[in-house]
Amino acid sequence: MRAIWIFLLLFCLTPSFGRIERVIIISVDSMNSDYLFNPQLNPNFTYTPNMGQLVRNGASFPNARGVLPSLTQVNHLSMISGYLPNKFGFPGNHIFFKENGTYLRPWRHPELIKSDTLFKAMEKEDPNYTTAVVAGKDFVGCTIWADIQVGPSCVNEGARRLGISEFPEFGIHDAPDSWVADNALKILKEVDPDAMLIHFGFLDQIQHYHGFSSTEALSQLSWADQQIGRLLEYLVESSKLNTTLIVLIADHGQTNRWKDAPLRRVLEERGIKATFYTDGSMAHIYLRDRGQLEEAVEALEESGMFDGIWVGDELKEIGLNTPYSGDIFVSLRPPYRAPVYVGPLVFSYGKPGTHGGLAETFIPLVFFGPHVKEGVFHLNASLLDVVPTISNLTGYPAPLDLDGKVLSIYDESEEVPSVKPYLAEWRKRKTSLPLGLSSLSVLILGLAFRPRKRKVSLSSLGLGLLICSLLLSQVAKLYLDSPTMPQNRFLFWNFTFPFLLFFLFPFLLSFSLLGLKGRGGLVRRLIRLGAKHLGMRGDLSPSQVLFPISVSTMIYIWLLLLLPIPYQLVSPTFSIFWYGGFFLSFLTVSNAARRKGLSLLESVVFSSIVVFPPAFFMNELVSALLFNHSLLFLPLLEMKFNL
Ligand SMILES: [Zn+2]
Repeated sequence: MRAIWIFLLLFCLTPSFGRIERVIIISVDSMNSDYLFNPQLNPNFTYTPNMGQLVRNGASFPNARGVLPSLTQVNHLSMISGYLPNKFGFPGNHIFFKENGTYLRPWRHPELIKSDTLFKAMEKEDPNYTTAVVAGKDFVGCTIWADIQVGPSCVNEGARRLGISEFPEFGIHDAPDSWVADNALKILKEVDPDAMLIHFGFLDQIQHYHGFSSTEALSQLSWADQQIGRLLEYLVESSKLNTTLIVLIADHGQTNRWKDAPLRRVLEERGIKATFYTDGSMAHIYLRDRGQLEEAVEALEESGMFDGIWVGDELKEIGLNTPYSGDIFVSLRPPYRAPVYVGPLVFSYGKPGTHGGLAETFIPLVFFGPHVKEGVFHLNASLLDVVPTISNLTGYPAPLDLDGKVLSIYDESEEVPSVKPYLAEWRKRKTSLPLGLSSLSVLILGLAFRPRKRKVSLSSLGLGLLICSLLLSQVAKLYLDSPTMPQNRFLFWNFTFPFLLFFLFPFLLSFSLLGLKGRGGLVRRLIRLGAKHLGMRGDLSPSQVLFPISVSTMIYIWLLLLLPIPYQLVSPTFSIFWYGGFFLSFLTVSNAARRKGLSLLESVVFSSIVVFPPAFFMNELVSALLFNHSLLFLPLLEMKFNL
């Protein structure tokens, strides 16, 4: 009897590891440390009330660093294994074969990963451990092995048994954060894994298009936070929070860049031939003649475009000496980004938000849960320290000979600070006014440009333009006013809005001008000249092209905005309307031109030449002004970013 008492007493006194029953690693793709720790960017965690509570009540490392190159797949593998790239075996999101210039996607070949991960080490020690990964990108969901594995296009048997299926999209490559959270919650409720990696991917996509610290990025950040709030809400309600260790982290950040670095030219000027594997702000350079190594490094250094150049043994120091690494690895300094080289061709990266180099290795790292010391630690923490620290706090087995270290945040106390999940009311907006206005606009538009009217008067053109801008401002207001459904905002700015600019406005302008009587401005005369030169009889009226296009566009906008379309359908709906609308517009214009006496080829040429160049120009200008995304107006972007 006494022995039992002593045993019980000892049992109670021993700091037990058993208090942590599950580990949840939450990785927000492309979330710079600034998003959580720069009070000018996110004062008082205004955009991230849920992540803010984890920071305030946990152990946070604002100066944590990721590994090089600062790319999604590499950093997630380092995060979940504790190893530098040379241990798992490849130096980027792709494997590049310099011999023939081809790429292999490691996420389609997980067998290429040479090292263990936390999940594999757990499985090896005890198959009863359950592990899960739910990711918004295939880079993470397909690459990292777990008992339950979910990525947009990779769902394994374990996940299928829970009724989870692939994300049905064919427009974009990432699944929305809400999809990730839905699946994560399902797994937590039904399986309750011992260790789980949840990856929210959309902030990455949004920042590539709109840039670091853009309004769009902040909006998407708060959407990711909303999903974390849902996870916290479940943990609180199911009383699981006291036994959960949460690790909040990012794989890398992003910086804004707008100058394409002429890597090939810099080397060719010295007579050095090379091939390049580039991604954002990093490049692996493979020299044709390795004897020119010293000269190549000198040329690169002199160009002043880099904040880091590594060769030979230096690659070992950053763990980048893999069989697929370049002879030289470079990190570009802002504002430079690496172009994409395909054979003799060069393509601009074309987006402002960039990562891959040194400047994007600054990430937040936060631990929250029982046995975690509270505080802000300005230490040199690394993404490599996640696995050893988890192992230290939980007793879970970790892979051997890790490159990371244990962060000393162990605390005797088993108390877990309480959190109050903050969930905003999304999508509960009054849509009747915009809906009414849109309907009215279409009605008036239809009357103003009714098909039987052959010639357009200046007043009806003005009225039509006014109504169109009214309608557009209403649509834009819906998006700009509310941080709801950032994925829809993303689709709107990148696809719907350019679509309107590409088709609706140019058609309206060029064909209305074409339909007007009397002398006109230079643009009208040019269009007329083109039409006359091609032998077209008479003019086209706006009604012949404008009406079907505006109707299809508006139906699309209505569907996207006003109907509660489930996220699984947003992307397919978009694709159907995008390609459908494109096809319809082109068909309508060519057809109208044909009826005016042009041959098939001429009518296609007509609709292409007369409409597309000014449309492209206008679209570029507006994209540069509004959402930092332009191929033509780089000086404008430079000015904006330097303000
Ligand atoms: Zn990433």
